Amino acid sequence: MPDFGLSPEQKETKERAHQFAEKIMRPVARKYDETGEWAVDVYKAAWDYGYLQALVPEDCGGPGASQMEEAIVCEELSWGCGGLYTSIMANGLAMTPVLIAGSPEQKKKWLGMIAEEPKFAAFSLSEPNAGSDAGAMSCRAEKKGDKYVINGTKCYCTNGGYADWYALFCSTDPSKGARGTSCIIVPRNTPGLVVGKALDKMGQRASNQVELYFNDAEVPAENILGKEGMGFVIAMKTLDQTRAAVAAGGVGVARAAFEIALEYAKTRIQFGQPIFANQAISFMLADMAKKIEAARLLTWQAAWMTDNGIKNSKQSAIAKTFATDTAMEVTTDAVQILGGNGYSRDYLVEKCMRDAKLLQIYEGTNQIQRLVIAKEIQQGN
Ligand SMILES: Cc1cc2nc3c(=O)[nH]c(=O)nc-3n(C[C@H](O)[C@H](O)[C@H](O)COP(=O)(O)OP(=O)(O)OC[C@H]3O[C@@H](n4cnc5c(N)ncnc54)[C@H](O)[C@@H]3O)c2cc1C
Repeated sequence: MPDFGLSPEQKETKERAHQFAEKIMRPVARKYDETGEWAVDVYKAAWDYGYLQALVPEDCGGPGASQMEEAIVCEELSWGCGGLYTSIMANGLAMTPVLIAGSPEQKKKWLGMIAEEPKFAAFSLSEPNAGSDAGAMSCRAEKKGDKYVINGTKCYCTNGGYADWYALFCSTDPSKGARGTSCIIVPRNTPGLVVGKALDKMGQRASNQVELYFNDAEVPAENILGKEGMGFVIAMKTLDQTRAAVAAGGVGVARAAFEIALEYAKTRIQFGQPIFANQAISFMLADMAKKIEAARLLTWQAAWMTDNGIKNSKQSAIAKTFATDTAMEVTTDAVQILGGNGYSRDYLVEKCMRDAKLLQIYEGTNQIQRLVIAKEIQQGN
């Protein structure tokens, strides 16, 4: 930045990811949207391409992708299928607390595992009574000797049904509120951990979300990331970094719907001419193109800032909000441009619209992003 083009290597990354999305994701996107089944074949291929483990550093056996590379890949994956993209992207979300606060041994153990074979991890912050207000969590970890004993309930844990470990945010000192929060790695096979059934959703149906129930679940005390009380800061730093990947998902799903709408507008004849000939339609498409390009630049800016060690709370919140609001607007307009066909399952735009909605909700709703932006501008940042 400010070099608005991609380098030859980044162009290659984009082309390779696009091929993956076109050849491996698109042909099965509708199937997994309908069945909600876990797409083992796609995730195995994603690991072969280096996407499932993209953020694992080279010294832990992974490709060590930058956030910029992650954003480039995520746009293409979301173009391929919003639900499959979320499963792959959320592995990076779960790994980021370890990248931020893990010791070299913890990184080798928990991230190295994902570099060795196609495995999943999950980020578990939300609770039934603590969503946007994550600091109000009640899941509790009590230190007893060399163990933490965990009790409580988590929800909406993406990849949770298939994860080998969880980056769990819980309270180690309820008297301190958010400052008493810690992040602890919980292996899947921990006695006392019960994984709930999958959430039935409007869109992104290929992705998996579950509740987690902890009943005196014991994990070694060495599984804590950093120190007790650092959890909330780790969570916020994680989300600052990963919001560019969500924004990229917004750009990808918007672009998918835009391409279909543009082609349709140029070929659908009504009143003896393509519907594109009506300014009401061509201006809609112009606005869609405008917003997608702006969203992509904001996304790249947020990713670039993380890669260059620049605090980006404001820019990542702006990118996430703008790109995912764009995704919702563009996909809704695409349905409108296709008329009755837009509403039918014969065309992909209705799926894009359903998939886009979730992007405005997870990793902090777009209302909460506006709170972050407002706080930052109030402080003169
Ligand atoms: C499919 C899916 C996947 C998810 N994946 C994960 C995951 O992997 N890990 C994880 O930890 N969580 C995950 N989440 C949870 C997600 O991050 C939360 O749903 C989100 O943070 C909102 O919390 P909530 O649903 O409890 O809504 P609430 O916090 O109850 O909010 C309800 C509404 O009120 C608004 N609101 C709340 N407070 C304010 C305020 N102060 N000002 C203005 N508006 C406000 C919100 O924006 C929202 O519109 C996922 C959720 C879904 C649906």
